[in-house]
Amino acid sequence: MEINFEELRRQMVEQQLIKRGIRDKKVISAFLKVPREKFVPESLKEYAYEDGPLSIGEGQTISQPYIVALMTESLKLNGNEKVLEIGTGSGYQSAILAEIGCDVYSVERIEKLAKRAEKILKELNYNVKIKIGDGTLGWEEYSPFDRIIVTAAAPSIPENLISQLSEKDGRLIIPVGDRFIQDLILVIKRQDIIEKLNLGGCQFVPLIGKEGWKE
Ligand code: SAH
Repeated sequence: MEINFEELRRQMVEQQLIKRGIRDKKVISAFLKVPREKFVPESLKEYAYEDGPLSIGEGQTISQPYIVALMTESLKLNGNEKVLEIGTGSGYQSAILAEIGCDVYSVERIEKLAKRAEKILKELNYNVKIKIGDGTLGWEEYSPFDRIIVTAAAPSIPENLISQLSEKDGRLIIPVGDRFIQDLILVIKRQDIIEKLNLGGCQFVPLIGKEGWKE
């Protein structure tokens, strides 16, 4: 039987995002457009719109739709920002950012995932620049970034990322905590003033690298 993904997508936005308080119109319309089923393994397609994370291989996951939405909304995007993502994974979060209109740079340490995400994003006509490497070092060459989103759990906020964040109301969202449970921390940078807000609990796979966890 054919699965009506468009209908599942609409229900996901209604039940999982809007009901829980996601309000940003740009975020909502991006979630209504990006085909999440293309970013999960073939065998898990029918679960693409479930209310949770899914395995994407290599011990990694595509995050729960609500968490992707919450993090994206916290970035307060107009659609013209230069955004750095750390942890490309499936490429779904990159696609959401690109759909909103952002200029997206994404770093992934696992080559196989980076290559697969690059291919899908290209097929869907999303222009995302992907680099294979340790994202805790940021992507110096293209800095500063108006926004930075880290989609893996860090023991602390990597200094490189704070220094590559724009001083003009730059926003960085990152899960910080131990290897198993974290808080979502929003950092707002204005000149040399750094404000930090805790947006609540979350669970991410570990950020592994120089300013992250050891393998
Ligand atoms: N944003 C992704 C979620 C990916 S899960 C999505 O939408 O699907 C987190 C990803 O971070 C994993 O793919 C993992 O390999 C990657 N990762 C972990 N540490 C990293 C590091 N130091 N640099 C870059 N990527 C890293």
